[in-house]
Amino acid sequence: EELRRESLLIVSAFAAKFFHETMLDTDEGQSIGLSYFKERGFTAETIKKFELGYSPDQWEAFTGAAIRNGYKEQFLVESGLSVKRDNGALFDRYRGRVMFPIHNFTGRVIGFGGRTLKKDKNVAKYVNSPESEIYHKSNVLYGLYFAKKAIREQDNCYLVEGYADVLSVHQAGVENVVASSGTSLTTEQIKLISRFTKNITILYDGDAAGIKASLRGLDMILEEGLNVKVVLFPDGHDPDSFVQSKGSSAFKKHIEENKKDFILYKTQILLKEVGNDPIKKADVIREVVESIAKIPDSIKASVFIKECSGLLQIDERALMSELGKMRTAKA
Ligand code: ATP
Ligand code: MN
Ligand code: MN
Ligand code: MN
Repeated sequence: EELRRESLLIVSAFAAKFFHETMLDTDEGQSIGLSYFKERGFTAETIKKFELGYSPDQWEAFTGAAIRNGYKEQFLVESGLSVKRDNGALFDRYRGRVMFPIHNFTGRVIGFGGRTLKKDKNVAKYVNSPESEIYHKSNVLYGLYFAKKAIREQDNCYLVEGYADVLSVHQAGVENVVASSGTSLTTEQIKLISRFTKNITILYDGDAAGIKASLRGLDMILEEGLNVKVVLFPDGHDPDSFVQSKGSSAFKKHIEENKKDFILYKTQILLKEVGNDPIKKADVIREVVESIAKIPDSIKASVFIKECSGLLQIDERALMSELGKMRTAKA
């Protein structure tokens, strides 16, 4: 069992090296993969640190190299790097994609995200490793290995949506950043972060999907007993596009000026949708209290009730009684 895990880790490390060297040392890799990353503003240092790579646009380039180097078919298939045809022959899962190796928090490669370079909407933008003995996507945070020291030092973790967001934010000098790539945020991922800090700041994309995911994420984070803040980006921007187009100091300034605690954030988002309709406003209040009810620490919860009361001009006792009802209903 341990041996099988180790074999999968070894073949994954080989693959990361293969994709990285293919990008740096071959004509196709340089002209397609490397130039793509450079155009997106990633430096040679970032490319090296995160071991970014390129998979040749062929059916068996990786699989062939792995077999020639003595790797067993079984592990190529189990890791998801190769796919078995009906006739038993193997082909490469990743072809003509730029490659983001995913490291576990001790720094070993456990999986990959591969991004297409085609504009075609029918091609999946990202292909991620399938579940395996070493890769459980709900337990993985992209970038954690490179972020954990800074997360401890800053006592805060920035949470973004995608691979490119992690790279650009990290490159801008904000190293305490991770992404829940390839899945929506899970409880396991929050528990993983809580080993390093109790404070999470959500930096999701400034579109409808990002806002929806942030509201869901903040409830989950509160439920785990962690503190959560949210920064909204302008519509059409994600942290990567923002920092790459406006620069590192504008990015940091945006965070400082737009960082909101979850009550303020949720209230503003929800109120924007309802305007001044009093009945709908009551629904908003209830939804905000529902988030507060998720906080395990009741003293902390009552502090947030006070803030909510001030913000929405609602009697604190009415809110406390609503909170009480929700807590009983949950118990
Ligand atoms: P880029 O900046 O490279 O265009 P992105 O990270 O901004 O990518 P989003 O569409 O915002 O892309 O998606 C956020 C994250 O969700 C991605 O980084 C990736 O981890 C995951 N993702 C996106 N599309 C897919 C897909 N088709 N299959 C699996 N995961 C995906
Ligand atoms: Mn998005
Ligand atoms: Mn993006
Ligand atoms: Mn995005």
